[in-house]
Amino acid sequence: MSPFPKEFGGAGLCDPALHNELCTILRLLGSADLSVARIYEGHVNAVSLLARYGHRDQMQALSGHVANGGLSAVWGADDAEGLHVIDGNPRVLRGRKILASGAGFVTDPIVTAVAEGSQIMCLLHLTDQKVDLSGWTAQGMRSTATGAIDLSGTVISSNNVVGVAGDFMRQPHFSGGAWRFCAAHTGAIERLVDLFRDHLVARGRGGDPYQQERLAQCIASAKTARQWVEEAARRLSTDEPGSINVVAFANLTRMVTERCALDVMEAVQRGVGLTSFVRPHPIERISRDLATYLRQPVPDLAMSDGAKAFLDSRLSVGDF
Ligand SMILES: Cc1cc2nc3c(=O)[nH]c(=O)nc-3n(C[C@H](O)[C@H](O)[C@H](O)COP(=O)(O)OP(=O)(O)OC[C@H]3O[C@@H](n4cnc5c(N)ncnc54)[C@H](O)[C@@H]3O)c2cc1C
Repeated sequence: MSPFPKEFGGAGLCDPALHNELCTILRLLGSADLSVARIYEGHVNAVSLLARYGHRDQMQALSGHVANGGLSAVWGADDAEGLHVIDGNPRVLRGRKILASGAGFVTDPIVTAVAEGSQIMCLLHLTDQKVDLSGWTAQGMRSTATGAIDLSGTVISSNNVVGVAGDFMRQPHFSGGAWRFCAAHTGAIERLVDLFRDHLVARGRGGDPYQQERLAQCIASAKTARQWVEEAARRLSTDEPGSINVVAFANLTRMVTERCALDVMEAVQRGVGLTSFVRPHPIERISRDLATYLRQPVPDLAMSDGAKAFLDSRLSVGDF
């Protein structure tokens, strides 16, 4: 399951050629525990960014830390002040990151920061962490330990800087990589549908036509989400010309996966009833985590970008 290239002791899962295998792993993790899937996805994202934009020495250093029990992540979210690289001797960070998953136990995150007015990425090795998890009172995903971390005073040398300014948001990978969290969401959707079926069988309620209709809709939603996610992963892996379509497809995949997840949660909660809200029933935990993890940045913009790309395209929708 390691994303590191094989020469650094991993399974090479950061290689786009293995997107299909990575998609399966993310789905399976998502079906088991979305918090674990989130932490793993962040680690994969960091290693993938390093493979794409970083130096060999940085990959060597990170793989060494991970072999000793370390973990990486990508912390991009900022508060109003943001995180800045302050020039001086030495250069240091000033500010904090927010909504940082794994705050307190991730040892080697990639953080975005502003240096001379541009966004850069820094790979850090944290030994002493000033973490604040007090604000992480979300409905679900509590075990991701998503919180704020003050990075002021962290020394930054050229060894820390990954790639060049602007690499973090470079397309098609910035938006196209959304397929990974959609894969985790899809795993949770699939698990909910399986649990719904198990409930109907166990309670002898599967013969009811209303329940059968609900189940049929759930099966269709789960299969729809999976097909979109696998296609989004495949498109990004081929890196074929026409990256606008890759980004648009990933953005539309976000919309489709979210809709499928919301439809399945509604149908399963209605079909199972009160039991699905009572702990420790797994439907209760999965629905709580999924509802929370579905909240990703700018969903309206992602959806409308997909529509705009098609408006600007001369392709038939069948070829888009
Ligand atoms: C479990 C979990 C773990 C996370 N871990 C990390 C992490 O490790 N690293 C990290 O960097 N981030 C992390 N995040 C944060 C995540 O990447 C997003 O930043 C966050 O979830 C955005 O949520 P939001 O609903 O506030 O988004 P928003 O983008 O604020 O969207 C909320 C709504 O407002 C709309 N909207 C957005 N902008 C505008 C606008 N300008 N005008 C009008 N409407 C607008 C959107 O379309 C949407 O309807 C995590 C989030 C979760 C849930």
